[in-house]
Amino acid sequence: MTQPRLLPHFIAGRFQDPAGGQWFDDLAPATGQVIARVARGSAEDVDAAVLAAAAAQAGWGRSSVAERAELLEALAARVEARFDDFADAESQDAGKPLQLTRTLDIPRALSNLRHFAREVRQRNDEAYHVEDGFHYVHRTPVGVCALITPWNLPLYLLTWKLAPALAMGNTVVAKPSELTPLTAHLLMEELQALHAPHGIVNLVHGLGPEAGAPLVAHPRVKAVSFTGGTASGALVAAAAAPAFKKLSLELGGKNPSLVFADADFEKAVQGVTRAAFQNTGQICLCGSRILVERSLHDRFVEALVKEAATWVPGDPRRESTRGGALISAGHRDKVEGYLRLAVEEGGTIRCGGKRPILDAEFAGGFFLEPTVITGLPATCRTATEEIFGPVVTVHPFDTEDEALALANGVRYGLAANLWTQDLNRAHRVAQKLETGLVWINTWLMRDLRVPFGGVKDSGVGREGGRWSLEFFSEAKTITVRLD
Ligand code: NAD
Repeated sequence: MTQPRLLPHFIAGRFQDPAGGQWFDDLAPATGQVIARVARGSAEDVDAAVLAAAAAQAGWGRSSVAERAELLEALAARVEARFDDFADAESQDAGKPLQLTRTLDIPRALSNLRHFAREVRQRNDEAYHVEDGFHYVHRTPVGVCALITPWNLPLYLLTWKLAPALAMGNTVVAKPSELTPLTAHLLMEELQALHAPHGIVNLVHGLGPEAGAPLVAHPRVKAVSFTGGTASGALVAAAAAPAFKKLSLELGGKNPSLVFADADFEKAVQGVTRAAFQNTGQICLCGSRILVERSLHDRFVEALVKEAATWVPGDPRRESTRGGALISAGHRDKVEGYLRLAVEEGGTIRCGGKRPILDAEFAGGFFLEPTVITGLPATCRTATEEIFGPVVTVHPFDTEDEALALANGVRYGLAANLWTQDLNRAHRVAQKLETGLVWINTWLMRDLRVPFGGVKDSGVGREGGRWSLEFFSEAKTITVRLD
């Protein structure tokens, strides 16, 4: 077996051991084996990283748009040159099928870097001409930004924040999830090889309360972009508010998939199943509450159960594998707890619900079969709380109003997908859904220019396109009087 690699912090352009001398294990979810030893960050490490970022701020803030865009493009080129390393590392670290990291995670990270390079070059701020003068908007960097990211889309979400933050002239301290630190480390290797100005990007590893919390609270940190669970988001918001830090929160979800009887049946089955089980149900946008018009319900459930079988977990390296592992043993325990709860709440497990038997190499992995549950009231805990695994519940509805009431009847409001061939209904329902995103007859079709974010307990603020550039900058109005 190969030795676990060491993942130190990256501060002021150098890899640095943790001040407290503590390291923790990073496990591969598909095998349960230790693949890395990770620096256990503390307030002392955070302070060093924030001070390095603050020292680099003035210089980077004065850099030209061309310099910033070129750095992002050069970084993208270096990641692309090591595409296989990044895809392998993400697959190993997050327990994802390699096919997914090769087609989704790493390509999207490249797109993030390139997109924001383009976006900042084409940026256009408002100006209003009036009779006796004009007003225009001038944007300046915010300062040191904290970027805190979860384990489900590690490099994808880190670059989603890093690219616009750097593009607008900010310096950053990133804190990736303690469960998936590997690709963030590889990205720092590439920044170092590029001779990026020291201190503009710093990386502190560690646990949420030990490294994330002091980062949010640090007085020199001016903005916090956080993606993660709703409970952690509430702590982050409470810590950031008294210092009036800019705050963007992308949090949990319990997204509905709505299927009307007039939907294109095959497309709806395929789309809803992918929305249910891609990344083993561990995408904040996954549709885990499936609402089906009653006349179609039984036929749809039968097709869903059949299609779910194509998402069973397997060797992550095999091209045909679509199902991965859950991120940790603890997370699988939590998901299995919901399976027991579902049965107590009166549900019937129609497929899945068990740990699959895989080859010896993967016997210690944190796998669970794709699971479909029916017969539950749509208001029960299983049907309304975020499970974040390969588990969906299916509920019948009779009318459009009932479908909307069920869809909106949860604390979350991130995304929804709906399936119908009635154009009027599609728009009518989409506009009434209490979510930040709605997909009609598709799922996870993304464009990096549009706003991304949730309502209710799914978050505050929007990222994407000009929304990211606005978040990572301060707007100043300058007014000129012409006599
Ligand atoms: P998490 O909240 O446990 O952790 C997210 C990050 O926050 C990690 O880096 C963690 O170390 C850090 N953290 C934890 N407590 C902290 C604190 N008190 N102060 C500062 N940092 C802290 O979430 P997770 O389990 O890693 O990710 C899964 C969650 O993320 C799910 O709820 C999912 O829906 C959500 N998510 C949301 C989006 C979105 O765009 N809305 C995208 C992906 C994931």
